[in-house]
Amino acid sequence: MNPAKDNILDWLRDAHAMEQQAEKMLSTFSERLEHYPEFKNRIDSHIQVKKSQQELLKECIEHCGSSPSVIKDLGAKLLGFSQTASGIFVSDEVVKGAMSIYVFEQMEIASYTILGTAAKHIGDARVLAVCEQILPQEIAMAQWLQAYLPNVTVEFLARSMGAKEAAKR
Ligand code: MG
Ligand code: FE
Repeated sequence: MNPAKDNILDWLRDAHAMEQQAEKMLSTFSERLEHYPEFKNRIDSHIQVKKSQQELLKECIEHCGSSPSVIKDLGAKLLGFSQTASGIFVSDEVVKGAMSIYVFEQMEIASYTILGTAAKHIGDARVLAVCEQILPQEIAMAQWLQAYLPNVTVEFLARSMGAKEAAKR
């Protein structure tokens, strides 16, 4: 097999595992959020996007004659994300979660930039098209979070004057 094709298949499977993991983490986080409806809505719509992304990636992987790998915990290992965003025993959960999701989005942006470049390099139009569809979705989520971070910080600090449990999620 062409080694570049081998890399692309590897990276497709990494991306699929990353999206499965992202969906799990976002769901756990969203289920706990009670007092930040704007944030919860944005996460829930991103979860729906993640499901269609997984389908697109799975089709590419199957087209290469392979199948998705089981979750590798790629992102969590890289970022310690599971402790911050699903580990939830922190008093500033909503702020730490926003930060962790932001960082995770940056990893996704890097992943699809790399995968899309590789696909273009070997002339794989199918994988390139999928990357070009997914990358703007991740950039949009990252930009939304960048703008939301100051809001959630201020809202959290204001709420912290009252009930701590209500402030944190
Ligand atoms: Mg390999
Ligand atoms: Fe994302």
